[in-house]
Amino acid sequence: MAKAGTCPICGKPTMLAHKPFCSRGCVDRDLLQWLGEGYRLPAGPASDEEASKDQPRGGDGLDSADNDD
Ligand SMILES: [Zn+2]
Repeated sequence: MAKAGTCPICGKPTMLAHKPFCSRGCVDRDLLQWLGEGYRLPAGPASDEEASKDQPRGGDGLDSADNDD
């Protein structure tokens, strides 16, 4: 039987509602870390969930390459 462990972020006892973390804060933190790593690493581990290769960037508005005069 797998008993609840500790939060991998802060080490507090895991809450079932936020498994395997202790709180929503740590869930968000883990998510941010994940995204951060994905952005940093040029070629990270391929995620099965992301099928599309479309990157969520390019909406800065500063780059006006398509200038319709
Ligand atoms: Zn935690």
